[in-house]
Amino acid sequence: MQLQVIDDVLDGRGQYLCGDEVSLGDATLFPTMIFAKHMLPKFGVPVEDALPSKINKWYEGVIQSDDDFKKVYNEIMGGLLKWEDNKRWDNILLAGVRDDEPATIFDKIVAGDIPAAIVKDTDKVLAFKDINPAAPSHVLVIPKDRSGLSSLRKATPDHAEILGLLLVAAGEIANDKSLGFGDGARIVINDGPDGGQEVSHLHVHVLGGRQLMWPPG
Ligand code: AMP
Repeated sequence: MQLQVIDDVLDGRGQYLCGDEVSLGDATLFPTMIFAKHMLPKFGVPVEDALPSKINKWYEGVIQSDDDFKKVYNEIMGGLLKWEDNKRWDNILLAGVRDDEPATIFDKIVAGDIPAAIVKDTDKVLAFKDINPAAPSHVLVIPKDRSGLSSLRKATPDHAEILGLLLVAAGEIANDKSLGFGDGARIVINDGPDGGQEVSHLHVHVLGGRQLMWPPG
């Protein structure tokens, strides 16, 4: 969008942004363009769609015809290619949605490394009895693959399917008289420190087997 604004005011006649003289604008925009051209495809954005035509022509032109720009290009690209070699991109891509929280005890339950009283086991969802029940019936429902869901506040539209599956499973469990549930249950997600969340792996509590009070403490 900002590049389009710049592109709109260029007359595209000279070699540089403002004609035949190199300006501060060229020096400022050029490194940004190197990054943009290198990075956009990594985010699935085709360069042709993202970079306006006059700016693109200027960029390709100065790399070819101006030794100073060529030098800057080679220096920056040298650094960027090193980032490829040492996998630095892996840490940058999708950093905003990646889940850096350490694995929790629930991962060990999913892996079968520690025992749990499992009441439901599907390809995506696991449910097991809470080890320290807060009601006569207390089951936790978790995604087997935490994938970004250390807490509900990290959820994005990409998680809609697993969130739906968790709630469907919670409803089925709350309906299961063999687990001690009666006519209804309290289905709760504690989120973050203020919400009383202790385990950083999204889990839905299904509590029942007695009349539950409201509001909770
Ligand atoms: P929260 O406070 O919402 O994070 O809930 C975490 C819940 O996990 C608590 O109710 C704990 O009793 C329960 N919990 C912790 N470790 C285990 C375990 N090994 N097996 C079953 N439940 C557990």
